Amino acid sequence: MTVPEQRLQEALTTLKESGVRITPQRHAVLEYLMQSMKHPTADEIYKALEDKFPNMSVATVYNNLRVFLDIGLVRELTYGDSSSRFDCNTSDHYHIICDECGKIVDFHYPSLNEVEQLAEQVTGFDVSNHRLEVYGTCENCQQMAKH
Ligand SMILES: [Zn+2]
Ligand SMILES: [Zn+2]
Repeated sequence: MTVPEQRLQEALTTLKESGVRITPQRHAVLEYLMQSMKHPTADEIYKALEDKFPNMSVATVYNNLRVFLDIGLVRELTYGDSSSRFDCNTSDHYHIICDECGKIVDFHYPSLNEVEQLAEQVTGFDVSNHRLEVYGTCENCQQMAKH
């Protein structure tokens, strides 16, 4: 089994254990999330699946994503006014984002716990989490710029 397949199986098991009914659409949304690895928006998921499920609406995709969020299968990444992206990698990781095409790539780095501690000391906040994003130009866009 490939890694995405394995993750899909694990996610399906989690859904079953949570008593969530697995409809063909729900299965497809989950499969897309696990295999794309691209942090898609609900709209992108909808567009990718609309041929297969002509009766599915964007609202259905959203409802399914809510279910996945509730049981902790995905994370939601909000970016100000633009729509949320969904991340099926729920382990601790950081993101690098392409300024040109908006692609988001995961990278791993030891969790910056000392930042949280320092922020707590300096501000007196009770810190819950942090998010770090690095920006740049992806390899694809660098290639395109050369031509
Ligand atoms: Zn790019
Ligand atoms: Zn991610």
